[in-house]
Amino acid sequence: MSLIAGVVAVQGDVAEHAEAIERACARRDRAVEIREIRDAGIVPDCDLLAMPGGESTTISRLLHAEGIAPEIDAHVAAGKPLLATCAGLIVAASDAADDRVDELGLIDVRVERNAFGRQKDSFEAALDVAGLEEPFPAVFIRAPAIDEVGDAEVLASWNGRPVAVRQGPVVGTSFHPELTPDDRIHELVFFANPAVDARRAGH
Ligand code: GLN
Repeated sequence: MSLIAGVVAVQGDVAEHAEAIERACARRDRAVEIREIRDAGIVPDCDLLAMPGGESTTISRLLHAEGIAPEIDAHVAAGKPLLATCAGLIVAASDAADDRVDELGLIDVRVERNAFGRQKDSFEAALDVAGLEEPFPAVFIRAPAIDEVGDAEVLASWNGRPVAVRQGPVVGTSFHPELTPDDRIHELVFFANPAVDARRAGH
């Protein structure tokens, strides 16, 4: 039975996430159908979700305006995985420290937008990530930092600042795992999850 993977597509790096999910599923020998999410009514069919980088103010506004935000809440409440990257992390956080972002409150962290500088300050770093054996090539582009961590677990830090966190089925990264050919973060989020594993058994 195919998995159904949703990529939030109201704005941001949609195609790159879809490709990373397809690669991660192929390595696990799992068939997957990708659905782009621009309207309400699609998330309830999805086994796993990715929320991309882009502009967090725009993404959060459209998620609420289209009625997608409560569907993402229900997806996470059902224990299904969500990978939220860069702007996606800002939207998923409990506090974006910016009134223009209407957060979903799915990861109990406060983030600081654009904490690592502007577009020209983009950089790549080999990061140690909990759960991965080898360092991950992390690409940071106008990335947020996490400056307060509540009920979330820190999976990786850069220069002493947390840059990857997990809370239950939700993983948020300051960097862009979809922009490298390395799909181990997608695999980690989507395939160490009981709700996804149960689908193999046909439940
Ligand atoms: N700086 C963007 C924001 O605050 C995020 C950048 C990104 O997703 N690459 O929304």
